[in-house]
Amino acid sequence: MIDKIPIIFSKYYDIGLGGTEEVHPVDAKRYGKIYYYLIKNAGINEHSFYSPEKVTDEDLLSVHTRKYLSSLKNSETIARIAEFKILASIPNEILQNKLLKSVRYAAGGTIMGSRLALEYGWAINLSGGYHHAKSNSGGGFCFFADIPIAVYKLFKKNPVLSVMIIDLDAHQGNGYASIFKDDERIHILDVYNEQIYPNDFEARKYIEFNYPVSSYIKDAEYIHLIDREIPIAIERSKPGIIVYISGSDIYENDALGCMGISEEGIIRRDEIVFRNAVENKIPIVMVLGGGYTEECAIITGKSIVNILKNVIIF
Ligand SMILES: [Zn+2]
Repeated sequence: MIDKIPIIFSKYYDIGLGGTEEVHPVDAKRYGKIYYYLIKNAGINEHSFYSPEKVTDEDLLSVHTRKYLSSLKNSETIARIAEFKILASIPNEILQNKLLKSVRYAAGGTIMGSRLALEYGWAINLSGGYHHAKSNSGGGFCFFADIPIAVYKLFKKNPVLSVMIIDLDAHQGNGYASIFKDDERIHILDVYNEQIYPNDFEARKYIEFNYPVSSYIKDAEYIHLIDREIPIAIERSKPGIIVYISGSDIYENDALGCMGISEEGIIRRDEIVFRNAVENKIPIVMVLGGGYTEECAIITGKSIVNILKNVIIF
């Protein structure tokens, strides 16, 4: 019997659309690259990973409106959410079977990760973090609000669970913020580039620990900010679980994030978040969020290896 490790991957995570995905800014093969990086460089046996089920319609309906879910049967809606016009001309059945299937597994991975985090103390879903999806709309490549879906499932078992979302993706996490609104069980810490998408000022009202930063912020200022503020936010919120969106689109070469953080800075950032969780004995589930350059997959792989070696000591 091979020991399991609470890292979640599905062979369905990567998106294949007959080559059209190659011209989209999203690296459609990012998830598989990280998975193989971990097998090669962390010595994790492929059977040690957890594999999720697809999110069910019932779980999707716990957060999304029926009208929104039906709208995804139109390829034009999918093209708009993916910000990728070519998709509008692809038969919806193909988009359902390729693109949305992958997202359904990713959301299932976040559900599984939040459960495993409570069991192991930590978990990493090698996908997920669709933080722009709202109950009645998608946007910015985000179709399903995986984090609210997972959190509401946790609430079913423990209605008074305190949840902290630490969102360090380059973009403001407006989807889950608008879904949770003033839910007092949810504590949101968001550090984001305020000069890029989504500029959602309505959703910003729901960020408890709000840190908009300027484009091309460098390592020293960024690391100083999160190193100082995360412990304060944790102390005030006293969460029973942390959901961490570790977007690697803060990387200096990422065209969409427009931030200036180096590879070392990203690895340091993820370590700070994990240290704060582990040292305070707070379960943490990490999801990937954005990351739009070729290098992002390897950086995330290196960062997870660093967490395993230096923080979790698995
Ligand atoms: Zn992002």
